[in-house]
Amino acid sequence: MTGFDYQNLLVDIATEVERLYGQGKVAAYIPELENIDPKQFAMTLTFLDQDKYSTGVSQQRFSIQSISKVFTLMLAVSEIGEKVYQRVGVEPSGDPFNSLVQLEHEKGLPRNPFINAGAIVVSDVLLSIYDDPLKQLLNFVHDISGSDQVYFDKAVAKSEQLTGHRNYALANFLKSFDRIENPIEDVLDVYFHQCALAMTCEELSAAFLLLANHGKSVFSSNAYLTPSQAKRINSIMQTCGFYDQAGEFTFRVGLPGKSGVGGGIAAIKPGEFSIAVWSPELNQYGNSVLGMKALELFTTATGKSIF
Ligand code: GLN
Repeated sequence: MTGFDYQNLLVDIATEVERLYGQGKVAAYIPELENIDPKQFAMTLTFLDQDKYSTGVSQQRFSIQSISKVFTLMLAVSEIGEKVYQRVGVEPSGDPFNSLVQLEHEKGLPRNPFINAGAIVVSDVLLSIYDDPLKQLLNFVHDISGSDQVYFDKAVAKSEQLTGHRNYALANFLKSFDRIENPIEDVLDVYFHQCALAMTCEELSAAFLLLANHGKSVFSSNAYLTPSQAKRINSIMQTCGFYDQAGEFTFRVGLPGKSGVGGGIAAIKPGEFSIAVWSPELNQYGNSVLGMKALELFTTATGKSIF
């Protein structure tokens, strides 16, 4: 991209945010995630023409966790279109990602596909469509990221399966309202594995180009989503991508994005670029402290927010 020294900007941002080490905490409720060195930072910016800038450990793999909910939603929408939104809503929840409280009042219809309850329903949708949803998901992520190195970290998936009592509670609750078609163990096996996808910032940034590119892959001829479907997923990222901190993320950064408790965040500017950041220390909402700050500095310095 002409006229702006993005490489230097990313390096400056890294220097600035590294002062924040120690302000957050690594996710400990999934034991396998606790073993990570907290003082790590990476950031990759990729434009639609694949012009790419990175800083920090941008080739280090990490657990993408809830960012995977965007991939499963894309895949479900690419298969059954708008019918997905009969199974999950599109309203922000204002509650933590793993909350059970709204489900009782709303008869098991999850507020949106990015809280755990909604993502578990989307996993169920995929399980009803495919014989092997995990294989389909991996193929999809390989295709849209242009990298066949992405894999499911089995140790992370197992660790969450052994300790994911809240997700079991959510799945049982959903089942009691007939919101889940398949056996709970099978649905959660898909969910825990999708969350355990291991990716680098470079791969994540590449994969999100699909949403910046109005639904068309930049690495293959596959058009997975219509422009309207991509617009809708981007809108849900804007309003629901950061759970009960979605307003704050919009206020500070001004891009549609999605976070995960592995410390990653992916965000896009439609028609322009995709940006991924990773740093494992989280704030109280489960969002990366350094990641949020880095994105705020980026959109402030460049003016490249959607607002
Ligand atoms: N696998 C995590 C969970 O279900 C994902 C949460 C997240 O990244 N916000 O708790």
